[in-house]
Amino acid sequence: MKNNQIKTLLIANRGEIASRVIKTCKSLGIKTVAIYSEIDRYSLFVSDADIAVCIGSNEPSKSYLDQDKIISVAKAQHVDAIHPGYGFLSENITFSEKCKKNKIIFIGPNSEAIKSMSSKSEAKNIMIANKVPVVPGYSGKDQSLLNLKKEAKKIGFPLLIKAVSGGGGKGMRIVSEMSDFESALKAAKRESLSSFSNDKIILEKYIENGRHIEFQIFGDNYGNVIHILERECTIQRRYQKVMEESPSPFLSKDLRKKMGETAVTAAKSINYNNAGTVEFIVDNDSGEFYFLEVNTRLQVEHPVTELITGLDLVKLQIDVAKGKKLNLKQSDVKSDGYAIELRLYAENPYNNFFPETGTIKKFSIPSVDGLRIDSAVCDNSIISAYYDPLIAKIIVKGSDREEAFSKMSYSLSNLVCLGIQTNQSFLKELIDKDEVRKGNYTTNFIEKNSDLIKITYSKSQKMKILIAGSLINWSDRNSSRKLLSNIPSGWRNSFYSFQKDSFFFDDKDYISSYRCLYNSFEFIFDDTALKVSLININDQEISIELDGCINKYSYLKNEDIILIHNQDIGNICLVTNSRFPDLDTEIKDGSYLSPMPSQIIKVLVKEGDKIKENDELIIISSMKMESTISAHSNGIVKDIFVKEGQNIESNFKLINIE
Ligand code: ADP
Ligand code: ADP
Ligand code: MG
Repeated sequence: MKNNQIKTLLIANRGEIASRVIKTCKSLGIKTVAIYSEIDRYSLFVSDADIAVCIGSNEPSKSYLDQDKIISVAKAQHVDAIHPGYGFLSENITFSEKCKKNKIIFIGPNSEAIKSMSSKSEAKNIMIANKVPVVPGYSGKDQSLLNLKKEAKKIGFPLLIKAVSGGGGKGMRIVSEMSDFESALKAAKRESLSSFSNDKIILEKYIENGRHIEFQIFGDNYGNVIHILERECTIQRRYQKVMEESPSPFLSKDLRKKMGETAVTAAKSINYNNAGTVEFIVDNDSGEFYFLEVNTRLQVEHPVTELITGLDLVKLQIDVAKGKKLNLKQSDVKSDGYAIELRLYAENPYNNFFPETGTIKKFSIPSVDGLRIDSAVCDNSIISAYYDPLIAKIIVKGSDREEAFSKMSYSLSNLVCLGIQTNQSFLKELIDKDEVRKGNYTTNFIEKNSDLIKITYSKSQKMKILIAGSLINWSDRNSSRKLLSNIPSGWRNSFYSFQKDSFFFDDKDYISSYRCLYNSFEFIFDDTALKVSLININDQEISIELDGCINKYSYLKNEDIILIHNQDIGNICLVTNSRFPDLDTEIKDGSYLSPMPSQIIKVLVKEGDKIKENDELIIISSMKMESTISAHSNGIVKDIFVKEGQNIESNFKLINIE
């Protein structure tokens, strides 16, 4: 067979995976064509591509799943190959065949392999025939209630009902006793029918202390099949992966070898000829492993494998699809170090991991050696309800597991993603858990650790949040006050006494009490007085010194909403409650007092002057910032107690008006 050329490649996908594929194409000198829906017009993957073609409206069925439109764009652009990414059309037999019919290379395995693996029952039956261990269960044709009940009884409880055409964790139900079986079956069938237009199911024994360990497989068109080591993806929510790592902390050398060989047997049994993944569930207690399924595409978590092996899996996919022989033998596959991936999602872990939509206002990545971020977002990227809420994949490599985890923890603390609710703080809590660090976990780890899905702030964290919020508001008022300097604003009055700001966060109202001192602030919380200095502030970052320690906060302020990110605290959304109108002790018998230690810049009135309310009286300077003292009522200037250039303490009597 001769090698086909790939000069131009179309990516039938969007987001981070489209950008990921484009990156490899660029390194190979392949021209790229992106397709996009209307809402994705300004996305990064669109600008990354050499050419981008709009293929329709936002609903996937009218764009990324519209096979005929995609093929016609591919032909118009003289595309040699299509990379389907993951999700969308990546495991669609009709699409892979349409590509072939139009003489376009579909970058993936042969359509028979896709077809047989797209059915959980057929996949299982093929594996049984090839002596690959499968989870005990029923994957037969007789779907009558009577038969399924009989099979369920044989398997025992708990058991798992799975949709034959299921994927992405959909259409699964755990049943713990026979009396629940019928209603769970109905629910699974309903969900499966609406998601996959098919209500056939299989039954499996539920492995209660299971670990998800999968093997990357690779085959070419000449019958060469190898595995490229494992990834452990046990940490999941709703049967979907949250964290992936390699090497697995669970596998012994022997078990790795045995499972790797089994993965190759599974792949060979379907003449596998591109990148794929054989998923296993391993019983944590017995060490027995069972085949779950083969994903016939590039996997979301493929970067984990790339980081420890140094291979470019997309390049390998393209090479094999062109008809090249796999130039990698099993014995060539070596791993070095340790890699972890976390999936940063726009979702609310504190509300059932419900997906969130909105705009990412600020996205910035720390610089960490060995950190790889696969994302397709930047400032102002939209996370819409139309697509997967994945924001970024955070992947790090360390020389060993401990180093990888500390780099991950640091990276996660310093990544800034503001504007939308994400699972960032949850992920940080998760990977800092002792049991996770030790590798002691099973698939229900998140469910079992309900403290992970509650946020708790310590008293010192709360104080830091309130101080940051108060100083951001204080500074904002000061800078806007320069423009409106003769409008009497609340804050000037409160120089004289403690100013109170009220905030709402963490489902509660909080009050922050503070006053300006010379070049610093004093905050009072309950009976604690804290001296705080504002070191630096611009419209996105603030540095605050507290107890001789400077902390940095990234923030975004829009009216009364302040989004704050801090390394130690994570992401907070602070709402400023309307300010207390307190005209305090500023004027005492017509005497105006200096609000804080300051210098007199200008005296604008003379003794005996007749003045009206709001007339400017004196300009003072403090903390490198000028403020104007204005009259609060009509009157006559009786005494002036200060001269220009004079330095005064707070509460110094400035002027007396009758
Ligand atoms: P993995 O996440 O390990 O690659 P899954 O089977 O959990 O494997 O999901 C595969 C991917 O397919 C998901 O990450 C998701 O992005 C994508 N996906 C799932 N369902 C859909 C869908 N209806 N439309 C588009 N993409 C989907
Ligand atoms: P999908 O196609 O949705 O990815 P899988 O069969 O791969 O479906 O299962 C998804 C997840 O569900 C697994 O990673 C595992 O956590 C859990 N799971 C699947 N089968 C079993 C089982 N028999 N026992 C325990 N957990 C299982
Ligand atoms: Mg799976």
